[in-house]
Amino acid sequence: MVDKVDKIWLDGKLIPWEQANVHVLTHTLHYGLGVFEGIRCYKLKDGRSAIFRLEEHIRRLFDSAHICMLPMPHSQEELVEACLQTVRANGLDECYLRPIAFMGAGEMGLGAKNPTHTAIIAWRWGAYLGEEGLRQGIRAKVSSFQRAGVNTLMSKGKINGHYVNSILAKREVQMIGYDEAIMLDTQGYVSEASGENIFVVRDGEVATPPMGVSILGGITRDSVIRVMEDLGIPVHERLISRDELYIADEVFMVGTAAEVTPVRELDDRSIGIGSRGPITEKVQSAYFDAVRGVKVPDESWLAIV
Ligand code: PMP
Repeated sequence: MVDKVDKIWLDGKLIPWEQANVHVLTHTLHYGLGVFEGIRCYKLKDGRSAIFRLEEHIRRLFDSAHICMLPMPHSQEELVEACLQTVRANGLDECYLRPIAFMGAGEMGLGAKNPTHTAIIAWRWGAYLGEEGLRQGIRAKVSSFQRAGVNTLMSKGKINGHYVNSILAKREVQMIGYDEAIMLDTQGYVSEASGENIFVVRDGEVATPPMGVSILGGITRDSVIRVMEDLGIPVHERLISRDELYIADEVFMVGTAAEVTPVRELDDRSIGIGSRGPITEKVQSAYFDAVRGVKVPDESWLAIV
């Protein structure tokens, strides 16, 4: 259960949590055309709080809307400010932020063009794949559900309806005891996990699937590539086969919610040493240093609350 906070930002105003409701004819509820983001705000080492890569997340929200041709009633600058206001209004030092833009009620049918509503919700959210997962690694399984082809669903958009694919994959593997699902693309190459991008390490080479395949352009993926460059560990963006994961020294998943989570087992094969590997540990600690302002590659990544 999400821990209730005081206020939710809806269409330009901060309103009480209980009043942030929608009509059952909300178009997005029926057909899934809407866009959203997931962002984290962290407490910095100096006691202040900062939303991590806020501008990039809001930019992606607008990219997603552009892909769907969903008109956005507010500017990027307004939504950046609205996210900051939502965190301040709820007195949160750390939280997860969920901006969402959706088509409201009015006409029904696929041709409808009802006005867009925008909301920003903030709540406290701990480690998405568990604290133990962060330290010891998780057990993953390749799902029988593929990531949709590059010309089926638009993978560069964080679009509500797309998540049915991710949920099918996640439920399938969770029901048989695994923590997270990895999906292959329609060609059979490694795509991403249900809500994370994937990195693989072997003999010191670090690789991740390229932007041109069916993956979301993860902001954590981008942060981690930059953090690794700064550590002198180059990352190759290239196609990766399923069995490359099996024989890897290390596999880890990255995402705003999951942060940097090691994979210790995949399809019942232990990966590398069977727990968090040394490169994963380095990247994890450099990532946490970045989000907490201990050592951030670019000061503009921290939007101070
Ligand atoms: N892939 C998918 C399918 C996702 O839902 C997410 C989470 N937004 C990611 C990757 C990671 O993206 P980010 O690092 O921007 O959170």
